[in-house]
Amino acid sequence: MTSRTATKKKPTQSGYVPCACRDCMEIAIAGPGEKKAYCAACEEAGCPDHQGVAGMSQECRAPGAYGDDDAC
Ligand SMILES: [Zn+2]
Ligand SMILES: [Zn+2]
Repeated sequence: MTSRTATKKKPTQSGYVPCACRDCMEIAIAGPGEKKAYCAACEEAGCPDHQGVAGMSQECRAPGAYGDDDAC
């Protein structure tokens, strides 16, 4: 019996956090002491500018956030 299912390790190292953007599944890199960060795509799309701001859209504006990229 040598068949084994490889278990993927989640990136738990400090510095890697899930993107703070609500709809984004990317991994972002937080600086030391930071608890949340946005991935590069969200930064570029301006998500940090409207996410968490009352009265502003909370949706992700980064391209591909909703599974544009079907190629698995
Ligand atoms: Zn993101
Ligand atoms: Zn976003």
